[in-house]
Formats: sequence, structure tokens, C-alpha cells
Amino acid sequence: MKRPRSVYLDHAATTPVDKQVFEAMQPFFSTHFGNPSALYKEAQIANGALNDARRTIAEALHAMPDNIVFTSGGTEANNLALFGVARTHAKHGKHIITVATEHHAVLEPLAQLKKEGWKVTALSVDKKGFVKVEDVFKALRPDTVLISIMYANNEIGTVQPIADIGRQLLRYRKEHKTRYPFFHTDACQAAGYLNLDVEKLHVDLMTVNGSKIYGPKGAGFLYVRRGVKLQPIVFGGSQERNLRSGTENVPGAVGLARALEICQKLRSTRKIEKLSEYFWKLLQKKVPSVELNGPEIGEGRLPNNLNIVFPGIDGEALVIYLDSYGVMCSTGSACTAVSREPSHVLKAIGRNKREMLSSMRFTLGRGTTKQDIDYAIHSLQKSLKLVGKSSG
Ligand SMILES: *Cc1c(COP(=O)(O)O)cnc(C)c1O
Repeated sequence: MKRPRSVYLDHAATTPVDKQVFEAMQPFFSTHFGNPSALYKEAQIANGALNDARRTIAEALHAMPDNIVFTSGGTEANNLALFGVARTHAKHGKHIITVATEHHAVLEPLAQLKKEGWKVTALSVDKKGFVKVEDVFKALRPDTVLISIMYANNEIGTVQPIADIGRQLLRYRKEHKTRYPFFHTDACQAAGYLNLDVEKLHVDLMTVNGSKIYGPKGAGFLYVRRGVKLQPIVFGGSQERNLRSGTENVPGAVGLARALEICQKLRSTRKIEKLSEYFWKLLQKKVPSVELNGPEIGEGRLPNNLNIVFPGIDGEALVIYLDSYGVMCSTGSACTAVSREPSHVLKAIGRNKREMLSSMRFTLGRGTTKQDIDYAIHSLQKSLKLVGKSSG
């Protein structure tokens, strides 16, 4: 049997590792495998590579190398930001502001902090998923120590006004003569497409991971502005300036740095946005009942993200039918394959349960072509007929 064509449209879940990234990592698995903490020359090669990676990342962020703490990915970087700030600054207050549509890697640590006596305000969003800047400031209290707002949403692609919030926060702190609150952003989805200049964004802490930007999985970092004190969440051999103990993942850090460098150089936003537009227009022509979740395609939305309601269709069944044609995507309730809870993000933008279960996320990537889109839509049309039949 002929293998079906394969069209991967789930780049928000993870990306393949870029060939240049893979090549940059390779020597550090076997040739230069030394422990960067050791003293002999071979180990210093690994240590040098780690420092180079740190410098490359710092440059992309307009930061200093010692602002970068390598972690095991986005989840750990978020946990370090939230628990690290909370535990260090609890004396000032125990209130944190966040947004209802955050990734679970922010919401779950915050749920844990709530159990430990913290107050958390989760701001609501509008129908497109945007948080209002003024709502952030209305929620501010004298005991607020941290604001954590994602840069771009992983499900519906909404790009939050991080720079606006950051700028106004600077003013607020000045007027109130305080260092608080600190400002954290989860930039895992944004790093592939948006500007990460921490001086323009005015953030104190920023999370990035490799797996969404054509880098390795299980590698990430937290940017920590100088002067922001953090308590570690992992204890041991004092690596990463005692903020993250454990033998450094040298190939991971090298790959992450190379991946970020490539993304920030490419910023292939326009090309991919055009393809997303093409996808959306063609789909509307072929399946007129579809609706878009999240912002219009354009500046307020990640250029590669389409989250679409197929009214009356079971999204899970559609994913499986599409897979039989070689088209890979996810249901709108992404990341919930394990928990099977309808998406908290779609709920927050006002979708009802039926709409949530009929939502699908297609996320394009660097390698996606117009032919891929044509094939995906063709397969969608065929799959929709089959799903329709199977559900009577
Ligand atoms: C993927 C993702 C994470 C989790 O990152 P891991 O590297 O898988 O731990 C956190 N936040 C956002 C927005 C993500 O997309």
C-alpha cells in the first residue's frame, strides 16, 4: 500500500529539530561529553560551549549572559519564576495576578501556591482572548508581588500587549516608589515569531523553551533581570549560579541557543501568515459553516495559528480521520489528551461545550507549503463527510 502523504500541522505542540541545530548539538553528546564543572581541558570545551550558548541567548534578548538560567524546559522555567519569586518575596505580600488563558505550566504552580496561602487573581479575557491593560492595573494591590502573563497563547494564538503592560508597570513602580510587582511572561509560543527584547517588553522574567522553536525538547531557560532575587526550586550541586542545580544539559543548551538565533534572524512571520490566510480563506469557501477562535489573522495573532470551530463535528473523531490521510493536527482542547477536560482557553473566550468539542487547532511551520494546505483541506473535506456519517 502506498503510504499517505504526511502533513504536520501541529507545530504549537512541538517542532522538528532544525538540521543546523542538530548538527550544532551532535559533538556534545559523545566527542565533547565532559562535565562543564570539571577542570581538565576537555570539560572546559563543554563549559565554553555552555557559555557561548548563554551569550547567544542573552544577545537575542538584549540581556546579559548571567541573566539566563538553563532549565529542563518551559514548565520548569515557569515553576522557577513563580515559586522562586513567591518564596523569596512573600514578606512583601502574597498576591499574584495572572490571566485565565495561561498554559497549565503557569496555572498549576499557581494552584499549588493558593494551597500555600497565596491569593491569585486570574483576569478574564475578551472574545478574542486579549487581556485589557487597564484590568491588570485595576487588579493591582499593595501586596501584589508578581504579574505573570503569557506573551502568546498556545491554543488560539492571541498575542498579549506585554510591552504596554511592562511600560505602564515601570511608571506604576516609579510613582509608588516600589520594586513590586515583578513581571513574568511565558514566551514559549512567541519565541519563534516575536521580538524578545526584554528592554522593549520591560519584563523581569521570561520563559522560553526549545521544543516550540525547532530546538531540542527538554531544554529551556528563564531570563531573570539583575536584582530580581529568586529562591531555587531544585537543590544540589549549585550549578547555574545556584538557581538550578544538576549537571548542565550541554547539547540541550547549545541546541536551544542555535534554535533561538535562527528564529530571531528568520522571523518568517509574513510568509507563514500568508499561508495561514490562504488556509483560512480556502476552508471558508469549502466549508462555509466554520468559525475562527481567537483574533483575526494579523498582528494580534501568532502567524502560524488557526483554531477553528467545525459546528456539529466531533473534533476528536476529525483528528483521527485526518490522521488516516497523514494530516496531523490537534483538537481545540490541545494538551488535554490526558485530562480530557474541555479547553479552559476556549471557555474563557466564551465558547460553549459543544463548540469547544468541535474545535480544531492547525499550526503551520517553516516547512509548510501551499501544496500541504491544499492537501490538508482536501483531506478535511473527505474526513468531514466520514465523521458526519459515523455520528449519524
Ligand atoms: C509548551 C509550553 C510550555 C511547556 O513547555 P515544556 O518545555 O513542554 O515544559 C509552557 N508554556 C507554553 C505557552 C507552552 O506552549
